[in-house]
Amino acid sequence: MNSNEIEIHKELKKYFGFSQFKGLQEQVITSILDRKNTFVIMPTGGGKSLCYQLPALIQEGTAIVVSPLIALMKNQVDAIRSLSSENGIAHVLNSSLTKTEIAQVKKDITSGLTKLLYVAPESLTKEEYVTFLQSVPISFVAIDEAHCISEWGHDFRPEYRNLRNIIKQLGKVPIIGLTATATPKVQEDILKNLDMADANTFKASFNRPNLYYEVRTKTKNIESDIIRFIKQHKGKSGIIYCLSRKKVESIAEVLQVNGISAVPYHAGLDAKTRAKHQDMFLMEDVDVVVATIAFGMGIDKPDVRFVIHHDIPKSLESYYQETGRAGRDGGEGHCLAYYSYKDVEKLEKFMSGKPVAEQEIGFALLQEVVAYAETSMSRRKFLLHYFGEEFDSETGEGADMDDNVRNPKHKVEAKDEVVK
Ligand code: ADP
Ligand code: MG
Repeated sequence: MNSNEIEIHKELKKYFGFSQFKGLQEQVITSILDRKNTFVIMPTGGGKSLCYQLPALIQEGTAIVVSPLIALMKNQVDAIRSLSSENGIAHVLNSSLTKTEIAQVKKDITSGLTKLLYVAPESLTKEEYVTFLQSVPISFVAIDEAHCISEWGHDFRPEYRNLRNIIKQLGKVPIIGLTATATPKVQEDILKNLDMADANTFKASFNRPNLYYEVRTKTKNIESDIIRFIKQHKGKSGIIYCLSRKKVESIAEVLQVNGISAVPYHAGLDAKTRAKHQDMFLMEDVDVVVATIAFGMGIDKPDVRFVIHHDIPKSLESYYQETGRAGRDGGEGHCLAYYSYKDVEKLEKFMSGKPVAEQEIGFALLQEVVAYAETSMSRRKFLLHYFGEEFDSETGEGADMDDNVRNPKHKVEAKDEVVK
């Protein structure tokens, strides 16, 4: 190790108490400390926050962190503050602050105390803030959840499109983009929109070798099939994703009637009920949560043993994120999706009310899901290929962990099966 490496290991220990970097963290941090534009692609849970938090803490000036959700920003700020005796080390700047609070934030930045300033993209467009930020030293701008910049991502936010222009007004500051979205199309969009084709890019593998992928043809017996599956995983935690709130309610009820402890979760339930059901799942008062995609953001239950898709997801990206909630602890994670072409048509109909450009993207993403469901090749290889990653389906880690590899079928047969 050279002195620089020893130094950042020491800082890692000092601030975070960890004795080792995870995955590509060290290389990323070195790139940031070299003041290079840097692009980080790591799966959820990969440890992206530390990649910008550590260099922010040890560099001169304030790092601006753009993040889409106020709740997430608050969590991060609390976590950083707990590492230090100074509250002012991290701040959030947003529209909910009073004049006095804003004055305090500005004071802490000016005095050099604030190392991390979290801002929502819409706050960063405020001229008043931009003018202020021009007058103080900025170490770098980190753009978390950078896929929000792309219409091909699963969470497009138009405000993200303005970021490049605003950052330009701040002078020559390095940009760090971070995302868990691995599709090459989204990555291209991010680099283009942030005008950083020159960025040092660090991409971790998206392979989850402990997850088993399976697709079953959806028939009218789906409910008894799901019940049988859950009973085979008695006492284990699992999530069932459904497309509609109505389906969530009815499946949760069917499970309960059949002696399975399950609760529903969707955006139509009031906040109190949602929080209660989520806690019940986390505390293991229930085994199964039946949910729309509203469930899962920020859920970090390590021992989710299965994720079932009652209906197909709208993109492979979403599928990867949703199934990724299984087996976080490295243990078993069974990912079972039910597929019927009727569902595809239903989803297409859903989209037909949307603007044409959005529809086209939606259809294209959906076609990839169809191809995944209908493929007879290694599902892991298919998924990883979608993410621009080569996977050797004979020797790669987790190579035998899917239905197609375990029970190979002829292409023609596979096709017959799904068109029925
Ligand atoms: P991401 O943003 O990539 O989804 P996070 O930044 O939220 O991931 O980090 C995920 C978890 O990994 C956190 O609990 C964090 O404390 C932990 N973590 C990050 N870096 C390390 C490390 N070097 N050693 C041990 N744990 C780490
Ligand atoms: Mg993150």
